[in-house]
Amino acid sequence: MQLQDVIRHHWGIESLRPLQVPAITAVVERRNSLVVLPTGGGKSLCYQAPAVYLGGTTVVISPLISLMKDQVDGLRACGVAASQLDSSQTADERRTLLSDLKEGRINLLFVSPERISQPDFCELLKQVDVRTFAIDEAHCISHWGHDFRPEYRQLSRLKELFPACSIHAYTATATEQVREDIIKQLNLKDAEILVGDFDRPNLTYRVTPRRELLKQVLDVIARYPNEGGIIYCIRRADVDELTKKLTARGISALPYHAGLSNEQRGKAQDAFLEEKCNVIVATVAFGMGIDRSNVRYVMHTGMPKSLEHYQQETGRAGRDGLDAECVLFHSGADFFTWKSIIEKSAKELEDGSDFIESSMDHLREMDRYCRSAACRHYTLVRYFGQEPGFSSCSACDLCLGETSVLEDSSTVAKKIISCVYRVNQRFGIKHVVTVLRGLTSEQVKRSNHEALSTFGILKDQSEDNLRDWIYQLIGQNALAQEEVQGFGGQTYPILKLTRESAEVLKDLREVRLLLPVEKKRSGRGSAAKAAEPTTDMNLFEVLRALRKRIASDKRVPPYVIFSDATLKEMARIKPASLLEMRRISGVGDIKLRDYGDEFLEAVSTFENN
Ligand code: ADP
Repeated sequence: MQLQDVIRHHWGIESLRPLQVPAITAVVERRNSLVVLPTGGGKSLCYQAPAVYLGGTTVVISPLISLMKDQVDGLRACGVAASQLDSSQTADERRTLLSDLKEGRINLLFVSPERISQPDFCELLKQVDVRTFAIDEAHCISHWGHDFRPEYRQLSRLKELFPACSIHAYTATATEQVREDIIKQLNLKDAEILVGDFDRPNLTYRVTPRRELLKQVLDVIARYPNEGGIIYCIRRADVDELTKKLTARGISALPYHAGLSNEQRGKAQDAFLEEKCNVIVATVAFGMGIDRSNVRYVMHTGMPKSLEHYQQETGRAGRDGLDAECVLFHSGADFFTWKSIIEKSAKELEDGSDFIESSMDHLREMDRYCRSAACRHYTLVRYFGQEPGFSSCSACDLCLGETSVLEDSSTVAKKIISCVYRVNQRFGIKHVVTVLRGLTSEQVKRSNHEALSTFGILKDQSEDNLRDWIYQLIGQNALAQEEVQGFGGQTYPILKLTRESAEVLKDLREVRLLLPVEKKRSGRGSAAKAAEPTTDMNLFEVLRALRKRIASDKRVPPYVIFSDATLKEMARIKPASLLEMRRISGVGDIKLRDYGDEFLEAVSTFENN
């Protein structure tokens, strides 16, 4: 069979995405490669299709058993001979697997990185017709990545152990530094480096000041009834509290963090993957291995600690290519929460100074992103080292006009900075806001601040706006916060001027202050989509229910049967024959044989009722 026929037959895919072509060619020609494609970009197909086409065995290194299991289930559903080798297998299962391997009956073998350091395993592989190695989540090999895993370092011996095999590394997040490190660690001389388009046009990014968090979270959930979403919180306590509040309002939500037992976490993850639970509230501990492709939103109730984390976490939305939303609720206080977490973790390290420096750089970059007035898609793409072909995306809060730049930013900034100067740089945000709004308080009276020229100078502004702007000025270095000791020995932050403050006052530096505006929400491309025949959402729900039943009988996650994108197309086209169904993207020959009749019948029953 030709490669294209293999892809059509097993995956029901008619056309490859731009970077998949050279990535697949590199594997077929067995030239080492590093492929960087965003989540949902279709990396798996780059090694899976050649594995079937080339024959022999491709060994896939994957960091988690759950990830391997999902991939194996998915491949088997497409009629591909795939297996995993892991510690949970019985002696019998292992024996069968070994003989299948030796007799060339397995196209794709999934193993953990630790296996490579086991002499027995390497001996076994020498008796197998191994053609290539594929390394999934390859950034885990690099210290510079955000998810370093020491066990990945063992892979640096692969080239020496299997000189005749080509090695192919895949990752979704890799800055230039991480890329170079992956190549170096794996000894991939002359590797073809393929970096895909980092933009995820189907994601709409929003960064919104955190005000009434619960209400804000509920508003987003209400936009996606009965759909999957992930909510990230900075701390475990926030996870527990938010989960309780959501469940009290009848939302099917489960918590996930490192403080829960393995069993509790496993159950939460399974319930989410099997679509028995819609919402996971989690710390960053929840992530890798979440292959559910129909996650419709990812929310952050606080700022993540780096843009790498943000990209990775938001990347879990909309892997099926359908529209999805990423909302970050942000407060200037998040910066200080992370700062203290970073300082605490550094104390546990022998020499934490490097760690603090690099973590703080990442944090500042993230903070700048939240306060920036530039297109979110543009900023992210630039951060990951690509020159975007657009400056405006129509899929972020800024380009959609939901957040605007305050027209007289500079005047307002000057008033705030002057007020900090007038109170002698001895007070915190709360007091400065009170003075700016011209309100009296014990502190105002005691300090005689009613007499200041800046008293009431921004009296028409809300407390929330003023606080936000002060944090935005801190983010742009036009003000600083400094911890001082109070009477009781406790520390508290006061506002200070910086070199940049003086430049703002003298009009030598431009500052931009953002203002949230309420607008009707829409996603990128929704205007274009309005012209297309619409998906019958009632039929989609019927097909989803059928998929869930089949998945539950087969004990696999629903997306292994068909993705949401495939079901939506089915609900739009309403196929009346197997031939029509076969034309839908994601319906290969094997799935057509296994599920075609049932889905056809569901469509026909729906149409006739
Ligand atoms: P990644 O590993 O890069 O995060 P996946 O390999 O899981 O992404 O692919 C995401 C989804 O896109 C899967 O459902 C996959 O079947 C689908 N897909 C991959 N390549 C194509 C293609 N060329 N056309 C249509 N769908 C594709």
